[in-house]
Amino acid sequence: MHVQASHFIDGDYAEDTDGRAFDSINPATGEVIATLHAATPAIIERAMAAAERAQREWASWLPVERARVLRRASDLMRERNDALAKLETLDTGKAIQETLVADPASGADALEWFSAQAAGLSGESVPLAEGFAYTKREPLGVCVGIGAWNYPIQIASWKAAPALACGNAMVFKPSEMTPLSALKLAEILMEAGAPKGLFNVVQGFGDVGAALSTHAKTAKVSLTGSVPTGGKVYAAAASGMRHATMELGGKSPMVVFEDADLEDAIGGAMLGNFYSTGQICSNGTRVFVQKSILEAFLTRLAERTKTIRLGDPLDPETHLGPLISEEQRRKVLFYVEAGKSEGARLVTGGGVPEGEAFAKGAYIEPTVFADVTDDMTIAREEIFGPVMSVLAFDTEEEVIARANDTPFGLAAGVFTRDLARGHRVADALEAGICWINTYNLTPVEIPFGGVKQSGFGRENGRAAMEFYSQLKTVQVALGKVDSPY
Ligand code: NDP
Repeated sequence: MHVQASHFIDGDYAEDTDGRAFDSINPATGEVIATLHAATPAIIERAMAAAERAQREWASWLPVERARVLRRASDLMRERNDALAKLETLDTGKAIQETLVADPASGADALEWFSAQAAGLSGESVPLAEGFAYTKREPLGVCVGIGAWNYPIQIASWKAAPALACGNAMVFKPSEMTPLSALKLAEILMEAGAPKGLFNVVQGFGDVGAALSTHAKTAKVSLTGSVPTGGKVYAAAASGMRHATMELGGKSPMVVFEDADLEDAIGGAMLGNFYSTGQICSNGTRVFVQKSILEAFLTRLAERTKTIRLGDPLDPETHLGPLISEEQRRKVLFYVEAGKSEGARLVTGGGVPEGEAFAKGAYIEPTVFADVTDDMTIAREEIFGPVMSVLAFDTEEEVIARANDTPFGLAAGVFTRDLARGHRVADALEAGICWINTYNLTPVEIPFGGVKQSGFGRENGRAAMEFYSQLKTVQVALGKVDSPY
């Protein structure tokens, strides 16, 4: 694939071949689809300087003018949906039937929705004894976005849209495993009329992310990544009193009560474990099922899991493509072995599919373990692959305590026909987002993010605007200054 250059800076592609070369690989075939260069210090300086310049200009625009650019960008992204989806499938290995509906589409939703937020940006007015005060939301400055590899264009858009809506500029570093689609977002924003330098992309590994996180011009860092990386990036941001949003990993519980609609609960559990070949931070990887329906749940779950079609991710009939890399498959297989050796019952999957079609990609079967107990490795650690753990429970009180017994707190789900119980359990679960009778839906209108070790700050929803802006209070006196001096 022809890539014009590795980086996108100040409105155009940029290259510095002194940077370490790395390949972007199609995980389904092992083929190199592009060779890029990691950012050198000179590239990082250029990107930060361009962003700083552009931000000053952008912040002087009327909010409604900024809104128009974001709205045009969302239209362009929708027009290019099919090409962008194909690019995302080539770069991530995710099935085209997913990327056509979930990746650029969700990015376009974010650009569109935050364009409306930009236009409606306002503060509050507070009456006081002798006068009043008003507040206004001001931009932070240059924001750094750092992305994971599972939803590249979505992550870039979810960060860029609210950041730009608030009047900030952004320098974005994609995961080096999926470097391509963020460049397309940069092209789109420029075509939509953004000032040059407003959204820049620099490529590289963790050291580039670290250099951006500690750069003197950086006002905020927003990371989507793992908990250990989150710890490092948060510490780096704190060193300069920078703002931070941490969207990190999880080990989220999904609770299925005996009165739940069984087919819906199974569908939710499958989507919440197998979509994107299981590489989703909010996946409900601990599925607690009430004992009275456990065997019925497992029987039907196994039947439906066996209908999942693995294969070429570009084939529209394929449900599951490969994992992102061979290394990730080794990690997932390690957990499958841990599940077996620690006494979990393998219900289905657990292996590597055989045959020519799977020979070159990091494919793995969708896997279900039953008889999982809370102390097992597969019930405690994030796997980031299509491995579901089913745990049995008796009572509501018991399952809430067990569901919360984790350092993570990204997401949670509850399936029940009892409305009061649904709300009661959602209330009690320690998670940033809870779903009742559905799972893993992330429409742009609702805030998304974690508690506990899963991070802080929120993406999407009006809440995201608070995390990309700072409040200024202005008090206005209408009387005389009352001074004893
Ligand atoms: P990593 O934490 O390994 O990497 C995330 C990003 O941070 C990458 O771009 C990475 O670069 C960069 N990075 C690594 N070290 C540093 C550093 N010291 N300073 C700054 N940046 C750094 O995550 P993965 O890419 O492996 O993604 C999987 C993880 O992401 C999972 O744990 C998953 O749960 C989480 N995730 C969370 C989501 C959420 O919204 N809560 C959504 C999606 C994923 P490089 O790629 O070169 O290492």
